[in-house]
Amino acid sequence: MGQFRLLLSTAVLCVMTACSGSSHFSAGIDSNNSAAGSQNAGITLVSKNTEPAAANTETHTIAALPANKLIALTFDDGPRPYVLFGSKEAAHPAPGLADVLDKNGIKATFFVVGWRLTPKTWGEPRHEENIGVTCLDAAQQLIRRGHELEDHTYSHLELRSQERKNGEPWVRRDVDRGAEAIKAVTGAQPRYVRPPDWIITSEARHDLEHQGYRVLTISPENPVALRDVNSLDYLCAGKAVGCPKPSLADAVLKQVEQREKKGTFTHILAFHELSTTAAIMPQLITELKARGYRFVTLTEYMKLVGAKPGETVVKQQAAATSGPVLPR
Ligand SMILES: [Zn+2]
Repeated sequence: MGQFRLLLSTAVLCVMTACSGSSHFSAGIDSNNSAAGSQNAGITLVSKNTEPAAANTETHTIAALPANKLIALTFDDGPRPYVLFGSKEAAHPAPGLADVLDKNGIKATFFVVGWRLTPKTWGEPRHEENIGVTCLDAAQQLIRRGHELEDHTYSHLELRSQERKNGEPWVRRDVDRGAEAIKAVTGAQPRYVRPPDWIITSEARHDLEHQGYRVLTISPENPVALRDVNSLDYLCAGKAVGCPKPSLADAVLKQVEQREKKGTFTHILAFHELSTTAAIMPQLITELKARGYRFVTLTEYMKLVGAKPGETVVKQQAAATSGPVLPR
């Protein structure tokens, strides 16, 4: 029955599109085929279950795609007011990242650095433009606009070498301090941690997960849908050495397309708060929307895709039986 429906839908789509080979269609159909039996909740044919949102002029395009295509946009290293809100200087023009997201109705997730959330902090004075807004004010703005703040540690030091130097408790303390700084702004305990450069020992990761944190990773040990997509946007900042060609937006879209071909239609995209990243966001968002993607915060993403804080992603079964322990 499922197969019959698939053939039927494909045939219908071929009629509607004349099997034009447009990237939207071919990606959707190929992926549906290859993903048959996948556990990804988004992999369903939607000829009968097209959501009301799809009932517009693009119905034929959206109907070809999995019903639940999700993107969690995430940005590390802030809050950086000049990136979020822009400035009069040509180097950091307005609109900033926060305005771009607002304009597109997108709620994103910001992995912020704890030290920035201390009073009277405007960023790194040597490298970052002071636009008269503190990082703390910027964080409060982000919350007011419906974004999510998560933990990128307090110090932003590389955790593995710090663990070697200062022992594992130092790592947990640094993550906890980051969480406390965020909680002081949001009133809520952050649940997700992205270690700087994703570098952390497995012992420290397990320890944090035991404390109720969920540690984001690019490790191939994890299911693809729960693995960060490294945008490589940091290569496009400053002297832009190694910035993906032909453009950052195209390179990210290519990664998304490659994941789609393997049957994955949900993606956590990892970016940084950089002016160069803010500049490509309008184009990237437009392209992803055209592919049928919906944008959610990381918490929503995890709810929909399946991982809960405190679970060890690699061994979800085992962790689920013991239950998460939340930090105090
Ligand atoms: Zn970072």
